[in-house]
Amino acid sequence: MTREPLLPLRPELRGIEPYGAPQLDVPVLLNVNENPYGPSPAVVAEIAARVAAAASGLNRYPDRDFPQLRGALAGYLTRESGVAVAADQVWAANGSNEVMLHLLQAFGGPGRTALSFAPTYSMYPEYARDTHTRWVTGKRETDFTIDLDHALETIAAHQPSVILLTSPNNPTGTSLSLELVEAVCEAALRVDVDGAPAVVVVDEAYGEFRRAGVPSALRLLERFTNLAVSRTMSKAFALAGARLGYLAAHPRLVDALRVVRLPYHLSGVTQATALAALAHADELLAQVDALRAERDATVTWLQQQTVDGAPLVVAESDANFVLFGTFADRHAVWQGLLDRGVLIRETGPDGWLRVSIGTPQEMAAFRAALVEVAL
Ligand SMILES: *Cc1c(COP(=O)(O)O)cnc(C)c1O
Repeated sequence: MTREPLLPLRPELRGIEPYGAPQLDVPVLLNVNENPYGPSPAVVAEIAARVAAAASGLNRYPDRDFPQLRGALAGYLTRESGVAVAADQVWAANGSNEVMLHLLQAFGGPGRTALSFAPTYSMYPEYARDTHTRWVTGKRETDFTIDLDHALETIAAHQPSVILLTSPNNPTGTSLSLELVEAVCEAALRVDVDGAPAVVVVDEAYGEFRRAGVPSALRLLERFTNLAVSRTMSKAFALAGARLGYLAAHPRLVDALRVVRLPYHLSGVTQATALAALAHADELLAQVDALRAERDATVTWLQQQTVDGAPLVVAESDANFVLFGTFADRHAVWQGLLDRGVLIRETGPDGWLRVSIGTPQEMAAFRAALVEVAL
């Protein structure tokens, strides 16, 4: 036995465990909002061919500013949203987690504040901590939307340099109206951060799952140079394992992120994989409509269930997961499902649980297990 070494750990990191959802080996994985459908053999072959071509050049550093990939992402965003996006408006990194870190490295920092509205994504406070940025949360309403007056008051009170809006939100699935995002962008212009306005980041990790008629914040890009809209290939694109997140913003904002990124942060293998996937975007996104329909059916089914005589409460969802509750002992329900081979997520406000949308067979297993355990 060796002695535990003494290490000069930063005080705010002492006793902290690394973040992460449990990764358990069970038959039905509905806990981290992945797309349950893997890439088709044709897409796998294309990825393999492009990675093989990239491998022959791996003695060289990859393209630092990856214009080809940024162009392909811009083309995809333009097609998906109907908003013209150019390559120099796009930035990418190893997951939108890293994109968010770049944003806080560039616009947060000591003496500065990042603001979001809880309950929301549990990783944000960690990016703030790691960049020495003060972390402040306003609140969401009981239906998990954000009240505009509350948002404006909170922004005025805290003068944040970064405002994070998650839409659709995780873990609630809630979309924000374009009017609210617009008003927050305007309020951000009135913040004074060393003579500059605040930056508003709209995290649209689940954007492709939004219901018909729900617009993307990309529509506001033309009007606001202090707006960044982030997306990921991890969810709808069924490419979580590739680690590719990206954002669209004014080219000046993108230039600021190029200053803080590590040199060559996006490997040649990652760039080749993402380019291959984007060449098959329609095919990779083909299951999105089926997942949205399965999501709506899951919401309807949950709404029809009762626990102890009271109907279940189900949050409206524009994402590929549903938050539902409330249970007096949610951990017991989570454990009961796990004992039946179904892993969901114990997250969100007390009493709630979150289930990701899987295949029809996986959702049938989830419903059967939930009926046995809790209903
Ligand atoms: C899953 C998720 C992401 C995506 O993270 P990646 O690093 O791109 O895999 C970003 N934001 C939210 C709110 C998420 O739930």
